Amino acid sequence: IQWEKQVRNSAQIRRSGGMSVLVTGGVGFVGTHVSLALKRRGDGVVGLDNFNNYYDVSLKKARKTLLNNHNVFVVEGDINDARLLEKLFDVVAFTHVMHLAAQAGVRYAMENPNSYVHSNIAGLVTLLEVCKSANPQPSIVWASSSSVYGLNEKVPFSESDRTDQPASLYAATKKAGEEITHTYNHIYGLSITGLRFFTVYGPWGRPDMAYFSFTRNILQGKPIKIYRGKNRVDLARDFTFIDDIVKGCLGSLDTSGKSTGSGGKKRGPAPYRIFNLGNTSPVTVPTLVSILEKHLKMKAKRNIVDMPGNGDVPFTHANVSLARRELGYKPTTDLETGLKKFVRWYLSYYGYNHGKPVN
Ligand code: NAD
Repeated sequence: IQWEKQVRNSAQIRRSGGMSVLVTGGVGFVGTHVSLALKRRGDGVVGLDNFNNYYDVSLKKARKTLLNNHNVFVVEGDINDARLLEKLFDVVAFTHVMHLAAQAGVRYAMENPNSYVHSNIAGLVTLLEVCKSANPQPSIVWASSSSVYGLNEKVPFSESDRTDQPASLYAATKKAGEEITHTYNHIYGLSITGLRFFTVYGPWGRPDMAYFSFTRNILQGKPIKIYRGKNRVDLARDFTFIDDIVKGCLGSLDTSGKSTGSGGKKRGPAPYRIFNLGNTSPVTVPTLVSILEKHLKMKAKRNIVDMPGNGDVPFTHANVSLARRELGYKPTTDLETGLKKFVRWYLSYYGYNHGKPVN
């Protein structure tokens, strides 16, 4: 009963025309920021997360505390738990699901392939099954990935480009997710929006990502491994600041439309949409390191090695004109500015004072 009350409170809408959103992966990096932004503007938000230990669980707990302080309740549970999902939909008639729960990371797929199948395929299907039977059916916005472009070498990547050459199991599960959601869209009329995020970074970010682990190693005086592609070409990424991604997510929720499910008027076929959310200006990894050195006022010990065949692609670059047109998406933070904000957060979160840890 206490649990139900907390879920209901958290889902309460406090603005006219607002939405109640179930955010899966609620204490994840992106999930935390999206939940806070929704709550801030008066939407109802309930988080769901299994707090898995793919990376530092204490960071996930700290994000949960941050969310709780902003009146966002997070349920601990797995998206494969259909009974739990049904119970949540019994308590709240969610209008939207922001589905961000996933096993992320391309390299870990070599070590633990089944965790990708569990969360990104089986979990997705369980969630869609529950959404399909919910009344009213929620509109679903979910995170695909730029990794679906795989070994495609034509840049910038547009949504209509080929996605049939995944370079990792992670990419393959995201591509499978696109096919699975499309199927649920045309069979059951679920409204679906897939967002292909391009390397998202920022405060409260993921410790497994390069910009984060580079920062940690530079501060600790440890060497950093910089991968170099074929023919000694530097790897480059279309690094995208979290605030821009959040705007793209909210824009997607706002335009995602109601499905044709019972409740509400029929509005024709439910939409199935896919958008790139990137920054449109790739930066090489050595340049990323130089920016970090500048903000940290410390030199990195660079260890440049050839890229192993571990699923990384040489470069990414988003064409976002479709998202610009349909969602009003416009990335505004360059890497230099975004990393400054990340470094400021990092130093404060880990208790550094002028580059030295505070005891
Ligand atoms: P994250 O790992 O910080 O967040 C994912 C959250 O989902 C984690 O808190 C994890 O505990 C939770 N989770 C995983 N499996 C679950 C399950 N079975 N049930 C319940 N919870 C589960 O990652 P993120 O960077 O916030 O990514 C969010 C989404 O965006 C993911 O789908 C990811 O694949 C996608 N994405 C991220 C990036 C990026 O650069 N950060 C790029 C492309 C796509």
